[in-house]
Amino acid sequence: MTFKHITYPDSGEKIKNNNGVLEVPNNPILGFVEGDGIGPDITAASMKVWDAAVEKAYGGQRKVHWAELYMGEKAAGIYDGDYFPAETLEAIKDLTVAIKGPLTTPIGGGFRSLNVSLRQELDLYACVRPVKYYPGVPSPMAKPEDIDVTIFRENTEDVYAGIEYKSGTEENKKLAKFLREEMGATFFEDAGLGIKPVSAFGSKRLVRMAIQYAIDNNQKSVTLVHKGNIMKFTEGAFRNWGYEVATEEFRDYIVTEQELWDEHDGVAPEGKIVVKDRIADITFQLLQLRPAEFDVIATMNLNGDFLSDAVAAEVGGIGIAPGANISKEVAVFEATHGTAPKYAGQDKVNPSSLLLSGQMMFDHIGWKEVSQLIDKVYPQVIADKTVTYDFARLMDGANEVSCSGFADALVKKIQAS
Ligand code: NAP
Repeated sequence: MTFKHITYPDSGEKIKNNNGVLEVPNNPILGFVEGDGIGPDITAASMKVWDAAVEKAYGGQRKVHWAELYMGEKAAGIYDGDYFPAETLEAIKDLTVAIKGPLTTPIGGGFRSLNVSLRQELDLYACVRPVKYYPGVPSPMAKPEDIDVTIFRENTEDVYAGIEYKSGTEENKKLAKFLREEMGATFFEDAGLGIKPVSAFGSKRLVRMAIQYAIDNNQKSVTLVHKGNIMKFTEGAFRNWGYEVATEEFRDYIVTEQELWDEHDGVAPEGKIVVKDRIADITFQLLQLRPAEFDVIATMNLNGDFLSDAVAAEVGGIGIAPGANISKEVAVFEATHGTAPKYAGQDKVNPSSLLLSGQMMFDHIGWKEVSQLIDKVYPQVIADKTVTYDFARLMDGANEVSCSGFADALVKKIQAS
């Protein structure tokens, strides 16, 4: 494949994707996008840790060969103002696995979110966000150790699909007229209008991935989170389609909550995953009061966006929360926070969100030893109270270090382990 500005490292090999099963060489080329704002700081710091962990885990037998890809402000500088070059998309598809820093999105105008575009262009239909507690991380919860939940957020539909019509435009007036005159809808004059598509196809493939994950990772429950009491034909339908997938495709693996009470006295049969559903608002409350009741959550785009940041806040905030956007063909791992422009270039922020997204990436390509090594040393560094400013301000007696200083502390632990 020839590109205008992207160059693959000579020495690496591409990962192959055989119908969803990855074939990973010992020297895979992985794509990375630095991102805007704090992106370069957290990318450099994380890369140091990933490379050190790979070196330690495999004694030099395996090595990642990084290929830089461009999106956002850096891309605009290289590609004559193009923030989202087509060849970056091609390279991500070609390489199968990539990781990215945050990208700037203007609010209320300007260009569309690059993150949303990326998810839609590559049909990365599941946003996966594991949220768990690392001992020592500052948390407002009485029992933060009860939080260990993986959220599967549908990524391509819902009010995020971009079907929106600005107040005062011809398109808006046309749609408003149709809704009022032909559908009998009533709403205020000049309302901005947005459409919320939620399909059986989109809902089912997301729930299917969440249940499969629960099976592969010995999880006890999958909760479908929705607001179906109010939005019956979108959110309510998501719930119903979710149960359809569970009962029609995973019958041997699951029991529904209804069956649990009707047939099993409320006790899950050995090895069965309980599939249940909860309304979105009560879920926010339950995730604070009784988080141990949640293992895997499958939900729609907007609920998932809010919920994943809210739960992340319980165990250290978005500075530490990892995430991935996944389809059957491609996976893009990413920091879940934004570009924090006020800290850009200061080597100050917490690199953990990107770092731990990388840990998910190594799990994804089957390099579990790397992910386990990071899992082992991360709490050790936190226990030493060697932390970036965001944690330091919540801890007594912290040893505040820079973004790169935090990475160095992790590398030292990795080398000593
Ligand atoms: P933000 O960049 O996430 O920053 C909000 C606050 O979160 C920061 O001021 C900082 O808090 C804290 N924070 C974020 N990253 C941190 C880190 N690595 N370590 C420690 N603390 C961290 O959100 P925003 O200011 O609303 O958005 C800025 C830009 O990012 C916007 O253009 C937005 O569209 C974009 N964005 C991109 C993505 C993405 O690319 N995935 C996601 C969200 C937002 P304190 O001020 O308290 O220190």
